[in-house]
Amino acid sequence: MVKNMSALKGIFYKAGVRAGRYGLPVVEGLGVFRFPRVVRVESTDICNASCTTCTREMMTRAEGVMDMGLYKKIVDECGLHKLKAIHLHNFGEPLMDKFLFERIKYAGEKGIATKLFSNFSLLDEDKAKKLVASGLGMIKVSIDGNSKETFETIRRGIKFDRVVRNIETLIDVRRKSASKTPRIGLVFVETEKNRFEREAFVKRWKGRVDSIHISSYHNWGGSLDSSRAMETRGLPCLRIWRTFTVLWNGDAALCCMDYDGKVILGNVKKDTISAIFNGEKLRKIREYHLRGEFNRIPICLRCEARR
Ligand code: SF4
Repeated sequence: MVKNMSALKGIFYKAGVRAGRYGLPVVEGLGVFRFPRVVRVESTDICNASCTTCTREMMTRAEGVMDMGLYKKIVDECGLHKLKAIHLHNFGEPLMDKFLFERIKYAGEKGIATKLFSNFSLLDEDKAKKLVASGLGMIKVSIDGNSKETFETIRRGIKFDRVVRNIETLIDVRRKSASKTPRIGLVFVETEKNRFEREAFVKRWKGRVDSIHISSYHNWGGSLDSSRAMETRGLPCLRIWRTFTVLWNGDAALCCMDYDGKVILGNVKKDTISAIFNGEKLRKIREYHLRGEFNRIPICLRCEARR
């Protein structure tokens, strides 16, 4: 009976999502999607690791760090639209950015919370204190293993012991500062190489951090191999109605899966986020999604992160 109930709930949930997505044009007409819910700012695309689950080695665009003038322009516009949070990561390691603490503080002054993902290999006690003092809302640490051997096979170029020590340092510094932030989350991307360590990983960290998330591996818009069979047709991807991704040079990329900036919607140095988000290029792409014509946008066609 319980099993049947949960199956029934699943059917209603899926039907609700389906109806909601087909209702997108109606909701859009009401002006709900005039500004993104999530703005992701790539402070830098430079990284010190070379993970097997990442497309870094295939990236052809230039490496750099976003200048503070452009960053402030983005944050100011987000502030005007009363955006709740900015994500300070995309395709690089945020702790490689020397302006990181200044950026977090500036967003906070505009009433915007910040969140970032990090491989956490570059932290030390001083940086931990600065992170706590900066007002960062949430840090998510990518740690795909529970042993040196497994972790270092996947997260090439960084040391397991150091990442573990750094998480413990931040927990300790935050406790001593009697601060509730940043909230600390761990993310474990499950693959066949680390699946056997999943339970031990959860056991090690449960109760010590604020959240543990086991996520699935995806193929970066079809760029990496995957055994998962993808629908070539299907429901539109909500990311293009909800999120906005700015690369370090101001280019607005289709979404966070577009690691090489193949589908550029505009540039935030020249235009506003609002103009690009409501512009012709994205409107056309949304139309293709609503019609299920994913073949018109190659990175969406085989994307496993469609949602
Ligand atoms: S389908 Fe994939 S590549 Fe296309 S917008 Fe959605 S997440 Fe991005």
